[in-house]
Order: sequence, then structure tokens, then C-alpha cells
Amino acid sequence: MKINYDNGIKNIGNTARLKEVFARAGRGEALTIAFLGGSITQGSLASRPELCYAARVFKWWEETFPKAKFTYINAGIGATDSQFGCARAAEDVLSFKPDVISVEYAVNDENSPHYMETFEGVVRKLLGAENAPAVYTFYNVCYDTGVSAEEIHSKIAEYYGLPAFSIKSTIYPLLTSGEVKNRDITPDDLHPNDKGHEMVASVITYGLEKIRRGEIVNSESENCKKVAEESESGICETVSGGTPGNLPAPLTANAYEDSVRYRNQNAHIISCEGWTADDTKQEHITDIFKNGWTATEKGAKISFKVKGTCIGVQYRRTVQLPAPVAVARVDGEEKAKLDANFDETWGDKLCLDTLLDHGKGGEHVVEIEIIDAPEGSKLPFYLVSVISSGNPGPLFLEPSFAHTIWGGKRLREEFGYEEQGDDIGECWGISAHPSGESTVRSGAYAGKKLSELWERHPELFGNMNSKHDEERKYDRFPLLIKIIDAKADLSIQVHPDDEYAKVNENGSLGKTECWYILDCDEDSTLVIGHNAKDKKELEDMIDTGRWSEFIREIPVKKGDFIQIDPGTVHAIKGGIMLLETQQNSDITYRVYDYDRLQNGKPRQLHVKQSKDVITVPAKSASESVKNFAQTPENTVTEMYSCKYYTVSKVNVNGKLDLENDAPFLCLSVIRGEGKLGGSEIKKGDHILLPAGYGNLLLEGHMELVVSTAPGSIDNR
Ligand code: ZN
Repeated sequence: MKINYDNGIKNIGNTARLKEVFARAGRGEALTIAFLGGSITQGSLASRPELCYAARVFKWWEETFPKAKFTYINAGIGATDSQFGCARAAEDVLSFKPDVISVEYAVNDENSPHYMETFEGVVRKLLGAENAPAVYTFYNVCYDTGVSAEEIHSKIAEYYGLPAFSIKSTIYPLLTSGEVKNRDITPDDLHPNDKGHEMVASVITYGLEKIRRGEIVNSESENCKKVAEESESGICETVSGGTPGNLPAPLTANAYEDSVRYRNQNAHIISCEGWTADDTKQEHITDIFKNGWTATEKGAKISFKVKGTCIGVQYRRTVQLPAPVAVARVDGEEKAKLDANFDETWGDKLCLDTLLDHGKGGEHVVEIEIIDAPEGSKLPFYLVSVISSGNPGPLFLEPSFAHTIWGGKRLREEFGYEEQGDDIGECWGISAHPSGESTVRSGAYAGKKLSELWERHPELFGNMNSKHDEERKYDRFPLLIKIIDAKADLSIQVHPDDEYAKVNENGSLGKTECWYILDCDEDSTLVIGHNAKDKKELEDMIDTGRWSEFIREIPVKKGDFIQIDPGTVHAIKGGIMLLETQQNSDITYRVYDYDRLQNGKPRQLHVKQSKDVITVPAKSASESVKNFAQTPENTVTEMYSCKYYTVSKVNVNGKLDLENDAPFLCLSVIRGEGKLGGSEIKKGDHILLPAGYGNLLLEGHMELVVSTAPGSIDNR
């Protein structure tokens, strides 16, 4: 019998973190080695715990580095998958701050997109841990059929640069060739016996030894090479060798990374009839039927409040028949029958059933009711936990500012921004544009630029990013939200449409924008449109500088909303403060700048392009302006909707519960203060609500301008 060990090294990945651990072990430091997985990791069918593969791999660490002091964490739980792994990784593994984590779920997960997502969730959670543990994986196999989730797990391992080892490529061929008899190494073709565990351990330690000796070096994945090329440092920092806060964009919708598990200490219970909380202490990680709830009577009901796009429920299936049956409902709708009868011999099982799979985000009510409690049931129904996933919070954004010849100081004095100078023209509140990026103020993504989140977390934006999925609509974050303080007049300008910009501006987007007047002087005006009746007159007026004849100035007041289509001549005049919602583009053609000088020189004009793109004749003035100063209280009033954006005004006086299913929402508080969910918000705040946030609860006395972009690819 000869194992071809080299075949077992499926992916070398980025070994930087592992090498760091080897170096520390060599120096005799104290290190913690953790093993996360299912029953094989737990040591099922090994005759003694110290004979299971995990204990044997741990022994390799001790023997290889005799000076170091190692701690062993076995976090294997039988018959559980990587979906549960996501929910328990923090408590069962990361709380020990392990330096190395082995993760395996290849015979617990299936080769399906669901398990690709849950495996990615657990891998991201481990790699992203603050102490930057080294993570590797390996793939067990069903010894009779050769089935495993290796194919789907490999995609994740390669993408994140995880070292990965395969049992299917090493031990399994010995069975198919007849060199080894199945029963010699596994009693049930799933769990190895002592001999089998020894062989599994040898495949892993062979790989670790090779990496330790430097006999195999980083064969960085394609993704890793790509990331390295694009990064400023030229190093792939985003995979297993890199820093925890720098994981690349997920391959899947990645709802499971932030899974939360609710048991009786932390659940939000709405009502409870006939259920008892089990408060007995959980002594060991495998002591799984603890801290849940039990019920024996038909009709017993318990309901919880949870938040998220994915919801699961864990309960016990028992071999002690007959057992009770329950149903699980989400928001009143039956989602699963939870049958506690387990017609097997190998023992009680912890079941995890999915109740909601990428459903609507936000708050849900989960109800569990016993519908059958047969006479002679020996055990009560055991409800272990409710798990919710996919529940991102609001992203508070720190704006950036533009100082301009026409700017003032009202953005500081009236909106409270800490920006110095008396020429602050623009606050870019929600921006992923390189000329002025917003950054996240606090929370898990603190300090990240919006464009970085767009690149690395497309799931926060409803996966609209065409860089990750060609079918999708946008190659950049689609909107840009500004507050503008015009102390003096802005230049007379016009923007191209997408088509013109694509051809003439290096594939850039055109620009459609709209304005909501926050404040203005009594007799304020704006330039919107022009008075030329045809193209010839237009060119004539521009060439001969008959500006007062050419431009159309119209009076405006507070609360006016103005849509500026591409091709519309426009200018903001002094004395006006407004909120601008626009396509994420900066292509502006300046038609006329009142012959002003900046640093002694006139600013550049774009006469030819302007003539090309100005719409003749202009849309009528009355069509362009609508007033929304007084909108009904505690209501959303849509101001405008086009193929680029929908912009609404929200007037809160008391409380407003808002339905929301948008791929993302941009919120800017323009007056007053109050609360969004549990967070305080006030005038001047810019907030991005990510996909899956769900319904909004707004309380207080305030006004907001809210916008989103159409997420559906049908609108392309
Ligand atoms: Zn403009």
C-alpha cells in the first residue's frame, strides 16, 4: 500500500500565515491549534479521542516543534455542516484565538451553490479574525462512492489561497484499486477507524511538512495574482496570507458570514406558551442539546423576532420513538415540518432546517408550534436554536469636500461639517468617485472607501456589480449625492448622455442629475435651458457671446425639485443651497464662465462639445420644476424616477415604518434629527443602507432625501 501523497496537495495557496506560525513555533512560543468540522473531526469511530486525525495532526505539531507550547481545540460536531459552522465559529473556535485552524466539511456539505456560500462564509469568518490565524482545509470523501463537496470547496480554497489536501486523491484510489479493503479503514464508508484516521492525518501532515520545509512555495491562485497586480503594493494582501480586514469580494452572495445563533440566553422572544427554557450548563462543545427550549404538549407555541435574509432552525431528532412533530413558520407562513422522529440507530441528531433562503431582509417573526405529541413520547421536542444570517447594518459615511471659487461656509455653519475655509462649495456625501470618496465612519467597515466596498462587497449592493457578474448592470457605484453651497454663480454648463460620453470621453458615463433646493434667497433664480429656437441660432448665440439672450433664468424657491436631463444648459446661481442626486460621473462641459478668472486665468471652456450635446429647443421651464416643500408627514413622496435613479423626500414627524426591498438606499438628512432603527441621526448625515437591510424605522422630527438606482438588469 502506497499513498501518493503529492497527489493530495490540491492547493498550496498562500502559505504566508502558516510560515509565520512555523517561525513562532520554532521560537518556542505558545500556540493554539484548532480543528473545525463534522463528525470525522470530532473523532467518530476512532476508538480513543487521541487516535482521531485531529489529535494526530496536533501531535505532529508537538513533535515537530518540541520547544513550543501547544493548546488543542477540537471543535468537531457530528452531523453538522458549514452552515452551522458559520453560526458557531466565533464561539466554538475564534474565542480561543487560535493560531492555526483546520476546517473540513466535505462530507457534511453537498456540491451545491448553497454549500459553496456557507463554506465561503465560514472561511471568510476564520480568515477575517482579528489575530489573522493560518487556515487550511482538507476534503474527506465517502469511501464507497467517492462523493464529497471537494469540487465546490476547492473553488473557495483556490480563491482565498487556502492550502488544501484531498483524501479522494490519496486514500480513495487505494480502495478502488483494491489495494486496501474498505472495511480495513472504515466501518461505514464514511467515518475512518483508527487506521483510517491515521491515514487521513498522514495526508495532512505530509502537506504541512512540505510547506514547513519550504519544498513547496506559493503557487498563488489566479485571483491572487490579479489582486497583486491591481494593488498599490504589488502584493496579494487579500487572501489567506494577508491582513484580516482585506478579504476580496466574495464569490457568492455571502449571506452566511455574519450568522447569529439565538439560544435562550440571547433570543428575542415575542411570546411563549408551553415551552420551557433549558438552562442547564453546556459542559462541552459537543454537548449540543443545551440552552434551547423544550415542549411536550400539542399546541405549545413559541415565537421569536429575528433579522436577516436567511433563517434556519436547529432541533433534535431522536432515536427514542415516538417523538413529537412541530411546524416552523416565518411571518405566519409555514416553511418546514420539524419531525423529531429519527429512525436510525446511531444516535440523536442535531438538525438544521432552512426556513428562509435569501428572502426579504430586515425583521421577521419565527414561530415554532408542536402539532403532534404522540402518547408515550419519551423525550420532549428540543428546539436548539434559531439562526439568522444576512443582516447588514446602516453604513454611516464621512463626506469629502470640494473648495471652489463660488463656495461659502454654510456647509460648516449650517450642516455642522468640520471643514475649514470659506470657499467650501460641495459636500460629496455619498460618493465612490475618485475625485472625492466617502469613507465609512464606524462599524465593521470603518475607514473603507465606498468604492472599495463596492468592489469587495458587491453583496451589500444587491450584487449589481458587473465586474463580478457580467450579467449585472453597473461597472461602478451608480449614484453620487452632493450638497452644494453656491455663494456665487456656478458656470453655465451642460452634460453629455451615456452614448456621447462613451464615444468621446473614454467610455465614461454621461450625467443625468437632479436638484432639491434646500434653501435660497427670496428672489433666487437658476439657469435651466436656453432660448435658441434651432441649432443655427444656438451656435450663433454662443459664438457671438449673446449670453443674456441665450440663457433662460427661472425663479426658484425652497423645496423646488429640478430634473436636469443630459443636454440641458444649467447653472446654479449664488444664494442657493441644494442637494444634488446624480449619476456617478464627472463629465461637465462648461459653456460660459462669466469671464471669471481662477488663479489669474479663465477656466477652460468646452464650446464644441457643448454645441454637440445641447438639446434644441429646450424642454419648457414649467416641465422642469416642481415644488415639494410641504409633503405629507410620515410619508415617502417620490419626486422623480428615471432609468438612473428614483429620488424621494421623506418627512418624519413622529414615527415612520418604511417598506424597503431596494438593492441599496442613499439617505441624506436635510433637516432636524431623530433615529434610524437604534441609531441617532441628524441633519448633515449621509447613510447608505445596504441590500438586505430590510424595512426602515424612522423616528423623530426630520426630513430626508432618499434615493436608489434600479437594481434589475431589465432596465439596462
Ligand atoms: Zn450639472
